[in-house]
Amino acid sequence: MESAEARVNFASAPPYLDALNPKQYEAVVFGEGPLLILAGAGTGKTRVLTTRLAYILERQLCTPLNILAVTFTNKASQEMRERIQHLLGHSVDGMWLGTFHSISVRILRRYAELLGYSTNFTIIDSDDQIRLIKQILKAENIDEKQVPAKMVASIINRWKDKAKTFDRAGNQQDLHVQLYKQYQERLKTLNAMDFGDLLLNSLQLFQQAPEILKNYQQQFCYVLVDEYQDTNVAQYLWLRLLADGYKNLCCVGDDDQSIYGWRGAEVANILKFEVDYTNAKVIRLEQNYRSTSHILGSASGLIAHNHDRLGKELWTEKGDGELVLVKGNWNSEAEARFVIDEVEVMQRQGKPLNSMAILVRASYQTREFEERCIKTGTPYRVIGGLRFYERQEIKDAIAYLRILVQPDDGLAFERIINVPKRGIGPGAMQAMHAIAREQNISLPRAALLYAMDDSKGSGKANLLTFFKDLQSWRKMLDNTPHADVVKTVLDESGYTGMWLEEKSPDAAGRLENLKEFVKAIEDFEFLPGFLDHVSLVTDNNNQPNNDCLSMMTLHAAKGLEFDYVFLPGWEENLFPHPRCMQDNGAAGLEEERRLAYVGISRAKVKAMISYALQRRTYQGWQVGIPSRFLKELPTRHVKHIQANNHEVKQHAYNSKPASIEDYRALHLKIGDRVFHQKFGYGDVVDTEIEQATVEFDMSDTKKIHISFLKKQ
Ligand code: ATP
Ligand code: MG
Repeated sequence: MESAEARVNFASAPPYLDALNPKQYEAVVFGEGPLLILAGAGTGKTRVLTTRLAYILERQLCTPLNILAVTFTNKASQEMRERIQHLLGHSVDGMWLGTFHSISVRILRRYAELLGYSTNFTIIDSDDQIRLIKQILKAENIDEKQVPAKMVASIINRWKDKAKTFDRAGNQQDLHVQLYKQYQERLKTLNAMDFGDLLLNSLQLFQQAPEILKNYQQQFCYVLVDEYQDTNVAQYLWLRLLADGYKNLCCVGDDDQSIYGWRGAEVANILKFEVDYTNAKVIRLEQNYRSTSHILGSASGLIAHNHDRLGKELWTEKGDGELVLVKGNWNSEAEARFVIDEVEVMQRQGKPLNSMAILVRASYQTREFEERCIKTGTPYRVIGGLRFYERQEIKDAIAYLRILVQPDDGLAFERIINVPKRGIGPGAMQAMHAIAREQNISLPRAALLYAMDDSKGSGKANLLTFFKDLQSWRKMLDNTPHADVVKTVLDESGYTGMWLEEKSPDAAGRLENLKEFVKAIEDFEFLPGFLDHVSLVTDNNNQPNNDCLSMMTLHAAKGLEFDYVFLPGWEENLFPHPRCMQDNGAAGLEEERRLAYVGISRAKVKAMISYALQRRTYQGWQVGIPSRFLKELPTRHVKHIQANNHEVKQHAYNSKPASIEDYRALHLKIGDRVFHQKFGYGDVVDTEIEQATVEFDMSDTKKIHISFLKKQ
């Protein structure tokens, strides 16, 4: 192979090189050897990677078959392929461009037999994984309450992330290690692999059959990887092995954007690149091409509060642009109204909805924005996830309510009758359907007949209990607020319990969604009204529309960019998310801050952060304390507007409530503006020695001990 530098001198440079800055250019035409591009958000890392690929192909430094390019998602690899073809002006076949998983599959489909699988092995998803572990637990007579299958699965997955096969997973007598071993044996008999196996089995293949590894090492002249900061140990080893032939490994990443620690990503991988490859060339890009300087300054100022980082200076030529807005709102509804109103204003100014995105910390947060969009007729899409009312747990909960309100609703009945498990299998369902057909009655009625029939049949006792419960819940509807009835239904039916028992990362999100669901119901006077609303909302989905407002979680927004970015819910207990801090302490907080950095740095033209002073939760209204991250934003790049629409220089954000002594030091007078943990903001209208009468914005007038009031 001829070196890139040599060629670039005597051939006319392709036009796409002209747009690059000198550092980017250097990275694109860099010849051979390990190369690390370590740079902040929006500096063109992905663009450099793509251009380098096009350049290698155009210069014919190798054939497409000699290139291995790894991205984090399938969508990203699709985009990269299109981009390369666009740069070259023709299609490219044969490149190994995909995710770690898709490329591993390609290898294993060829060689699985060497590992004792046949090449048509099945790839199982996390549901199948749990099911299999449950079977093993049952066979071993292990109580699932003591050893939840989801927990076992996540322990096994973490081992796989760390490239540990069961024989290297620690003490072989340990229960989890033994379960791991059995799980792998079962997978082998089923000729199946889970996602972690795809990498782990490739690694094993390389170890067992060095000649195969050698072939790949000779094949892949160039190995390129995007989002390197989020690789786990198994992926890291996999890359090192495959790139070891030519050592032309080009990795791009940003230590400040490592946000998958909870899934086993090791930011250390990127930090030790120079140790692994002592002759590595490291290129740092400092010009940001995405954002205005206020956006960039806010993001950089925030991330500077992390200790565990390399640190970098970014600059932009985009001009100051608008200040990053931090908008306070009285409550979460007002926040949704603020965001969608802004969207409408921009739309009227002719800005396409495609240029706007709402990025949330927890997926349940999309609900209030979705409702608002439906009210205003604003087309939207939820990226990387389902719309709120399409999520499994929400559909289940709705099915419970439908059967409550409409006793003959067979579809709803069928959906939930065995969720949670009531011992009603396909045989029993068939019998019920037969009765329904014969007697021309609805499925629930047929189910009741089936349950009352004396003959044998599975789940009959449970069915009868269910019908009794249904009756008492319906009675409750006459004299109990319907949101309370819904809570009772979800709890007593065992539905909430089912998710509580599942110790997986997504179970917690589902429980949050269920709480959000109950909250949504409180807005409606009657349950049937709510159900109609849901049907309409769901029906609205089918509108074909290309210009849509995007909503997604911050995690799903990695690598993307939008002109206008809304970042709602910047409150303690939501962002930073308490779960991450409970699980990982200070490191968890730093990962949350990186997520905030990812969020702000998605914006090209304007970033709008918001918080709500009250958020209605499952337990009623809760005071929202503005996020500690707001205090960390550099004042000169930010405009703070409080809920009362007053602009302030720097909001007195309190991450933790002040002590009682602080409050005692207060001397309140009539006209003072105060804040109360439960009732929110208000004005003092009368005072006594230790008490003040306060007219609250969101509640009645109350007499309150001054130790509970904070002067604003
Ligand atoms: P992230 O860290 O968010 O993944 P990144 O470093 O991968 O960001 P890119 O997405 O590659 O950055 O680039 C950010 C934006 O800047 C894109 O719109 C890209 O087209 C543009 N850009 C990058 N380099 C240049 C350049 N030299 N001239 C003009 N625009 C550029
Ligand atoms: Mg990128």
